[in-house]
Amino acid sequence: MKIIESVQEMREWALAKRAQGQKITFVPTMGALHEGHLSLLREGRKLGDQLVLSIFVNPTQFGPNEDLEKYPRDHEGDLKKAKGCKVDVVFYPKAKDIYPEGFQTFVNVEGLSKPLCGASRPGHFRGVATVVLKLFNIVQPHVALFGEKDFQQLKVIQRMVKDLDLPVEIKPMPIVREDDGLAMSSRNRYLSPEDRQAALAISLSLSKAQLMVDQGETNPKKIIEMVQATLEETKKIKIDYVKLCNPETLEDLKTLKLPALLAIACLIGKTRLIDNCLLR
Ligand code: AMP
Repeated sequence: MKIIESVQEMREWALAKRAQGQKITFVPTMGALHEGHLSLLREGRKLGDQLVLSIFVNPTQFGPNEDLEKYPRDHEGDLKKAKGCKVDVVFYPKAKDIYPEGFQTFVNVEGLSKPLCGASRPGHFRGVATVVLKLFNIVQPHVALFGEKDFQQLKVIQRMVKDLDLPVEIKPMPIVREDDGLAMSSRNRYLSPEDRQAALAISLSLSKAQLMVDQGETNPKKIIEMVQATLEETKKIKIDYVKLCNPETLEDLKTLKLPALLAIACLIGKTRLIDNCLLR
């Protein structure tokens, strides 16, 4: 497994592989790898000849009061897990090389970046879209894999690829959960045992919502109220949003039309967790 830190070396490696007719698959991450990331890597391994993993905690997608400095980092553990998934190259750039002095060009996917997490994290998706476009230009993948855990991010990237005619196929991947339902996230490491217990209300509320739909509920307001009540029961959860929306436009649904995206963001202590499901 090769570890590449230099942007130029990464690009030259990718160009050489492409010239040999090799198919490059790519999984961009911020590290602190868990089974969710590994599911993307295992699928990526199957889809191409050369598998690239990038680890980059992207400063431009963090707000001034967010956890950029404290974001979990586990370089040794990440390399071990990457090796286990037969990654060919770990691209591990430095922030000063991705954003050199004078950097001033950003990508803004206007509509899809506004609701949900975009409303509480202004500039977040502008940072995400910009770094993903840069990584695509450097790694030059044929296929890139993204998790549905970050559903809005996936939609923003798909839109950017379409709008800017990028020659990359985007492969969405299902959410990987712990046995008890908690969606895997690098930020779960911040949770105390009590917080982690409280966090189970998130996935529980998603399952209860599907049950309501199965039993014939068609009023979005009632579903949202049930989810809010389930989350608030724990006392430890502060809701950022609970939304039922059109999974393509991310606009709020006034009447239930399936499949519908049920998306949740909340804070447990200082830890921000998101989860979602498609109600069918
Ligand atoms: P991150 O390191 O949080 O930026 O995530 C890197 C990629 O892994 C993104 O495409 C995420 O959507 C994906 N991912 C993170 N957690 C999960 C999960 N629990 N299941 C599936 N994919 C995930």
